[in-house]
Amino acid sequence: MTTLPIPAPIYPPEYRSSAQTAFDTALSSVPAYRTWRRYDRGPSADIFERYQAMPVLTKADLREHEPAGFVPEGRDLAAALARDEVELVTTSGSTSDAVTNVWCQGWWDASEASSWKLHAATAAARLGEHREAILASPRCVGFASDAGYLSMEQRTLWHYLFLTEKADPAEWSATFCDRMIEELARFEPAVLEANPSFLSVLCRHAIKQDLQVFQPAVVTLTYENPSLIHLRHIRSVFQCPVISSYGATESGYVFMQCEAGRLHQNVEQCHVDFQPLAPRHGGPTIGRILATTFHNPWRALIRFDMGDLARLAAEPCSCGRRAGLTLDAIEGRIANATLSPAGRLVTQREADAAIAEVDGVDQYELVQTGPATFSVRYVSDTRDPAAIEPELRATLQRCYGSSAKIISEQVRALSPVRGVKYRLTRADFEIDIHDFLVGSP
Ligand SMILES: [Zn+2]
Repeated sequence: MTTLPIPAPIYPPEYRSSAQTAFDTALSSVPAYRTWRRYDRGPSADIFERYQAMPVLTKADLREHEPAGFVPEGRDLAAALARDEVELVTTSGSTSDAVTNVWCQGWWDASEASSWKLHAATAAARLGEHREAILASPRCVGFASDAGYLSMEQRTLWHYLFLTEKADPAEWSATFCDRMIEELARFEPAVLEANPSFLSVLCRHAIKQDLQVFQPAVVTLTYENPSLIHLRHIRSVFQCPVISSYGATESGYVFMQCEAGRLHQNVEQCHVDFQPLAPRHGGPTIGRILATTFHNPWRALIRFDMGDLARLAAEPCSCGRRAGLTLDAIEGRIANATLSPAGRLVTQREADAAIAEVDGVDQYELVQTGPATFSVRYVSDTRDPAAIEPELRATLQRCYGSSAKIISEQVRALSPVRGVKYRLTRADFEIDIHDFLVGSP
């Protein structure tokens, strides 16, 4: 059994039975897990040890068995689709091929509502039928339009307003940004849910034009792991709590940031296995996270690789919440990791912290093009290359080592990958996480 570098997590009384039910259901009656039975240590073993003996579920597995292979036997998916109890939703991320999921709105809503208990502001805001504005790629959520513009009514669904129909913030004009700010004031949302890269672009516009922006009760950040630079822009415009919410279409809401800034596991809805990296790569406090969902009648998800690295909190959180795993931070996508010339894994968060030290970098994209070569394209509203680039090189050499060669270029704007999400850092070559986990060389 993997030993974590923290005291054993504390779980609420019903947690063990939820974890047991999810596990038993998957192994006994879900087709996609039939081949997993041979790994089972059996009912006499501790349930969490039984989890750890299982393989990891990947997006490739989701595609191979999609979507009916994850529905427990005895449930009629066709009939449920016909009566609109569930629907099929296809996601296409910035790094991998499309996956079709069985989407159960009731399960999703319950997962979101449980996550709200993990921050004092969302717990107090009586959320549910509240007005919510969403600023993210319309290729992920909402309504896209490549040709003309859509009216506010055309971008409203139930209690949601989708602020942009244009997927590329590099093409947002000043007039378009003004429209979003005016709509926030008219709609008066309780919650603004945003992709931090997208919201950062809007906030830079508000800062430059010195605009007053409507203040919701909370801003929640999701879709991407926020850069310190994004947070700087967002916090200079929004005085309300700015909260990171962490999950995925497949897993629901897995972690939520509390008022003390740490992230707490959504223990009512999911179990999380943590696999530490080897010490030279940041382990054992940094590792990858695997999510198991509870209570979804239409989809058994066991040890799903979220594709992210996280950092465990060494100390109990000052907010008083004790249940489940507590994280100091999400370190970023595994797909966005880079390597030092000496072969040490550098997470997006570590590279981001280095770049965020340089005054005036408002947006960037770092690509590792070889073992020791890095190319940075960046946007600055306030400083020219002669001022920025020596500082950028110096901070990145402190992060990656003095043999790192840095090429940098100032650009007018940067676009998200495939119009979906930004990738702030990445390597041009494949990084296999198995080479970096505990037990690897
Ligand atoms: Zn806390």
